[in-house]
This record gives sequence, structure tokens and C-alpha cells, in this order.
Amino acid sequence: MAEQAGPTWQDDAGRDLVRSFGDRMAMFVRGKGARVWDAEGREYLDFLAGIAVNSLGHAHPVFVEALAEQAATLAHVSNYFATPPQLALAGRLKRLAGTGESGRVYFGNSGAEANEAAFKLARLHGAASGRTRILSLKDAFHGRTMGTLALTGKPAMQEPFLPMVPGVEFIDSTIEALEAAIDDRVAALFVEPIKGEAGVMPLPDGYLESARALTERHGALLIIDEIQTGAGRTGEWFGFQHVGITPDAITVAKGIGGGFPIGALITFGAASELFYPGTHGSTFGGNALGTAVAGAVLAEIERADLVANAARRGAQLREGIAAIGSSLVAGCRGQGLLIGVALQHPVAKAVVAAAQEQGLIINAPNDTTIRLVPPLTIGDTEVGEFLRLFAASLASVEDALLLDSAAAPVSGAVPA
Ligand SMILES: *Cc1c(COP(=O)(O)O)cnc(C)c1O
Repeated sequence: MAEQAGPTWQDDAGRDLVRSFGDRMAMFVRGKGARVWDAEGREYLDFLAGIAVNSLGHAHPVFVEALAEQAATLAHVSNYFATPPQLALAGRLKRLAGTGESGRVYFGNSGAEANEAAFKLARLHGAASGRTRILSLKDAFHGRTMGTLALTGKPAMQEPFLPMVPGVEFIDSTIEALEAAIDDRVAALFVEPIKGEAGVMPLPDGYLESARALTERHGALLIIDEIQTGAGRTGEWFGFQHVGITPDAITVAKGIGGGFPIGALITFGAASELFYPGTHGSTFGGNALGTAVAGAVLAEIERADLVANAARRGAQLREGIAAIGSSLVAGCRGQGLLIGVALQHPVAKAVVAAAQEQGLIINAPNDTTIRLVPPLTIGDTEVGEFLRLFAASLASVEDALLLDSAAAPVSGAVPA
């Protein structure tokens, strides 16, 4: 119970924190740009950015000033009232998402809350038109709450918490599977433009266009989860904007707050009229503090043209990774600064550990994929430094594999 009962921070974490996250890999005390420092003063290049959250990097002056200024002005008043930063952010999100006049925004405090709202939107649409089916993709990730877990296509994650909220069916990520599954009893289809947690897995070419046509034909909502792909990360403001479609709703979180917890459901057209007074709410959602910070973060992404930077630096990273010529690397998936490096062997965790040794923070959504989601602000210096550290990390794991003669190529490796 004592604060800092010690002897080490690992002891404190192991005793006091919920066990669902496993052992913490380090304890960070400070960050600046794409760098973080641990309790021993060691510096790391941060290419995880809090899992695609710190769009502007750490301690960006725009983030710091917006937070301090709004905290000193008005932090929270509840949703009985409006505030200028809330209205400004709603307008900005509508403009960036391209909803036009008829769009509306619901604010929550996380990705899961944004998707919970989207699930309720789907139920309202279903209730109004006699539809009970909701389609989601196998291997999709939409969150950890009971509602969003029901949308998450990972049986192992659901299993300890059965029964699930009913009505959700999981289909393969192919146009054929969607064609076979959809009918007039489907209320909504949920999709991620790139399945981030599944290992940065893109949808097949033409999927979103077909999904739009099929959902429209059958009167179902197309709800796109942009929580990981949004806020400019893929080289467009939102992933769906790489193809010329208009969804019925998108959900955003992670990168829009730059480190402040905020999420939102953005609706388009007729879907904007489904929620009516009393059907949903949140005490903290859309408070002045969070919306001021997210507004400032998005304004800075626009001002500094970081969406274009994400596309450019993403291409530079892909080229550089290919040029390393590591026998461990099969190739890269993803778009912009959402990159999945596919490995030839299930050694992703060893690569992550080797990188940390080198002073580089990256992560492994599965055994054969390294995920790179650095701040959108990175430039030549960070790209160069990353490539040097990543090459060294791969080389040390390659050496270990050569020593371990038992290691054989794995047939289940995810292709690039
Ligand atoms: C992270 C994520 C979520 C969940 O967001 P939380 O803020 O952790 O609740 C949902 N969907 C996708 C695609 C995500 O990447």
C-alpha cells in the first residue's frame, strides 16, 4: 500500500497494477519529440508513440500550451452546456472527415467509447428497420469493453467473458465473404481500413468500395473504425479517404488527442439523425479541456502539413527497411506511418527486445509482425536513426537465430 514500497519500480508495478498488461518493459519519466527517457536517464527513439497516439510527439509546445491555457480557463462543465473548444472541434472533425452540413459528432474519452457509441448507432438503425445482424471482420479489433469486445473478431479475447452482447457475426476479410453474408437484416458492417492490432493487415483492393455499394444496396450502415488509421497517420486524414467513398459513420480516438484521452463518433447524412435525446451520453465526453487539446493537435497537423509528411516519411522508411537487406524481413504492409514489418520467422518479440537494448521503442502486434507508428512529426534525423537502430536490432536477432540451429522457417508466417 505504501507509495514506492520498493525496492524497485518493477516490484511496485508487479504488486500494485492490474495484471492484465503483463510486465512493464521500462519506466519512462520524460519525453520530447520522438524521444523518451527512462528512470535511469537512458534515451530511446520512440517509434510506438503510445500506440499511434502521440501524433505530435512528446511535450510538443502546441499540446502543452493548449492544455495549460484551457486548464486555466475552463476544463469541464458537463454536456448540459456547450463550450467554444467543443464546438470548434466538432466543426473541424466534420470538415476533415468531409461530412458536409449534415454530419454530427459524439465525443467520448477513448476508442472503445467511440465504438460503443457506434454499436448503439447500429442498434438504433436496426430497431428502426427490423434489422438484428451486425457484421464485423475476423481478426478485427474494436476495443475491450463488453460491447466493443463483441465486435472484436478474436475468439481468445472473448472466451473468458462469454456470453457476448448478441447479434455480431464475423466474416472473412474478402469481398466474396461480404457478398455472401449481407442481406436486408444487416444493420451495420464494422471495418478497419487497415487492421492494426491484427498485424497491420490491409483490406483487399476494392473492399471499401464494394462494402459501400453492398451496404447501400441492403440498407445497412457502413461504420469505419479509424481509431488507429485516423488523424493523418496513413497519409490521408482518414483511411477511407484513400478511396472515393462516403461512409455512414467513422470512429476516431488515439492520434486526435496527441496524448489526451479523447474519442469521437462522426456520423454522415441520415445516420446523424439516429440518436435522439436521452439515447446516449458521457460525463467527461467532449469536455473543454480535451476538445481544446485535440483541436490544437489537429490544427498543428494541418498547419505543418503532417499528413503529407506521414506519406513521405512512410515511403522513406519502407525504402530504408528494404535497403537493410535483412534475411529476417519479408516486406512491409500498411500505409504512411502505419507500417507492419513482416518477418520470416516468429521472432517479433525478440526483435522488440533487441530494439529496446539498442534504444528503440517498437512493438509486435503478433509473432511475425513489427508495428511502426512513430509521431507524424519525424524528419530525416529520426528516419536515419531509426534505420540504424532497427538494422542493428535485426542483426542481433539474426545472429541469435544462426546460433540456434533449431530455428526453421515457419510456414505460418504472414506474407507481406
Ligand atoms: C486502439 C483501438 C481501439 C480501442 O481504443 P481504446 O482507446 O484502447 O479503447 C479500437 N479500434 C481500433 C482500430 C484501435 O486501434
